[in-house]
Amino acid sequence: MSVVRAGRLVQGQVVAQFERAVADWFGRRAGVAVSSGTVALELAMRAMDIRPGDEVIMPSYVCAAPWQACTRVGATPVIADIDRTTYNLDPESARRLQTTRTKAIVVPHLFGLSAETTQLAQLGIPLIEDCAQTLDAEAGGRKVGTTGLVTICSFYATKPLCAGEGGMVLSDDVLLLERVRRLREYDEALDLTAGATNAKMTELHAAIGLAQLSKLPAFMSRRRAIAARYRKAWASLPLTLPASPPERTHDYFRFVVEAQADRSGPDAGTAWLETCTQLGLHCRRPIFQPLHRYLGDAECPHSEAAARAAISIPLYPALTDKEVSRVIQLVQETCHEVAQF
Ligand SMILES: *Cc1c(COP(=O)(O)O)cnc(C)c1O
Repeated sequence: MSVVRAGRLVQGQVVAQFERAVADWFGRRAGVAVSSGTVALELAMRAMDIRPGDEVIMPSYVCAAPWQACTRVGATPVIADIDRTTYNLDPESARRLQTTRTKAIVVPHLFGLSAETTQLAQLGIPLIEDCAQTLDAEAGGRKVGTTGLVTICSFYATKPLCAGEGGMVLSDDVLLLERVRRLREYDEALDLTAGATNAKMTELHAAIGLAQLSKLPAFMSRRRAIAARYRKAWASLPLTLPASPPERTHDYFRFVVEAQADRSGPDAGTAWLETCTQLGLHCRRPIFQPLHRYLGDAECPHSEAAARAAISIPLYPALTDKEVSRVIQLVQETCHEVAQF
């Protein structure tokens, strides 16, 4: 309400405060708030001077935002495969696709688990860490969002830090961030910046984001507590539970399982989804469609297998203990059904 009363609705003090707070969360030098995660990816690439003829490596098993951002700057997306157990970009697959034209690697930390940023950084190509789904996870004591040249966030309604819509580009490179700042506004600059657009964040979104950020540690521990209950209850079911590699923490943005019965037929997962929906348990495929399927040209057997088998079970901070018990029970009942397929 104070934002509305103050009368300044777009890109003012509250946005600046939100930029500072998110940069502090990651321990990065600064952040530039923009209108969405997709725009954050695009402006990051533009600010890195990625252009036609350049290549950007990204995993197949992700939403289409990195592909869209890359094609908007005119560069060529190169589609890599994932690790079958963590669902994250496989460094070996990225290494095989690296050429002299590779200008960046988009590294999404998927479903709340940190990707292999240390290994990927060794390829010597700038990393764009995509933290839209993962803000708190660590790998070997190192937090997500702290390794790459650039980190991007999304504050879309379904993300762990939600403001309705919004995104941010974070970095320690102040010149790069200055270029992003010039790209998010089309006017009131000393010169015309080609490619600049209107990608400003409103004060209202920033105010919601700030309020949510103050609750984020509590959200994270609630997510982890629910995940611990799921793990304990489902340990002996014919389900593959989310990977928990040593020295890694998980944010559990998604609790993704696979019905082991999937091995006997490609449709067991789909049948299970239908059963759950009928019972009022809203499970989903966590990725709508992997990129290689749209493009039809990349060899991504692990992304294909994940797309067929992975199912996301409801997990969010507002779930009550009673609702969690109900989810546990419904999965226990239905997944035995699946095993009979
Ligand atoms: C949601 C998401 C994006 C895009 O963010 P928007 O704010 O929806 O544009 C990019 N990358 C990943 C991994 C996402 O989950």
